[in-house]
Amino acid sequence: MDLGLRDSVVLVTGGSDGLGLALCRTLVGEGAKVALCGRDAGRLTTAEAELEALDGDVLARACDVTDPEQLEHLVAATLERFGRLDGLVNNAGQTAVMKVTETTDADWSADLDLKLLAAVRLSRLCATHLADSPHGSILNVLSISGKAPAAASAPTSITRAAGLALTKALSRDLGPDGVRVNAVLIGLIESSQWVRRAEALGTTLDELYANLATSNDIPLGRVGTAREFADVVAFLLSPRSSFISGAGLNVDGGMSPVS
Ligand code: NDP
Repeated sequence: MDLGLRDSVVLVTGGSDGLGLALCRTLVGEGAKVALCGRDAGRLTTAEAELEALDGDVLARACDVTDPEQLEHLVAATLERFGRLDGLVNNAGQTAVMKVTETTDADWSADLDLKLLAAVRLSRLCATHLADSPHGSILNVLSISGKAPAAASAPTSITRAAGLALTKALSRDLGPDGVRVNAVLIGLIESSQWVRRAEALGTTLDELYANLATSNDIPLGRVGTAREFADVVAFLLSPRSSFISGAGLNVDGGMSPVS
């Protein structure tokens, strides 16, 4: 299926590694132009080279999404390079999980800055540009813990629940301008964060993935692949999903107890 993304411009936060980079590969394969960010310069250079080798028209820029000024520069650089914006993917993030009673105020501030306020700030900066697109769209990457928090899942699960409410509120605010807003709530999906975890645990990646699938009782019996994540997100960004807005779609192999 041609997704109709050729020459669209999509900004992907956390596009230098893991799921974000997998999404950039898929978008480039669909003929989209991609602006991506991350903090680590080495990862950005590697990602940019890989995507350019796939014939991608790519802008890779260092940006910490918790810094409002850097976000302004990121959006300005994207518009300067490509002259338009059709999609925004709020993907940058990292796990922060503990018992609520063990969290500090600093834990909450850091998690809200990274996973909620960055998406709010970027949505504000991008909204009018997305409204100028014939198929403007925002996609928030969240976690299934946002719908069904487990024990010792704070602050992430609560921040992700706020991200789901943000998705719905934004979809109502921006719908009249023709901008769709959706979220994917992911379960356990292969990415660089698990490579680092396997190294830290001194186990092989295959063993870690198998253990994750078993211990979390994933109905499909395995963790997801980054390609499976990227295919769903590319579809939700594309005009082929033109009547889907305000949705939070589980991409989890059936792991979540709620749909
Ligand atoms: P990775 O750690 O593999 O990649 C994270 C990406 O985000 C990197 O490019 C990283 O680059 C970037 N990033 C992290 N912090 C910042 C920041 N402050 N500013 C800019 N970029 C940043 O993670 P995944 O690909 O696995 O995760 C992607 C998203 O999916 C995250 O939001 C994560 O919380 C969520 N998620 C993933 C799950 C999974 O199973 N994979 C499960 C549930 C949720 P750099 O470090 O150089 O900044």
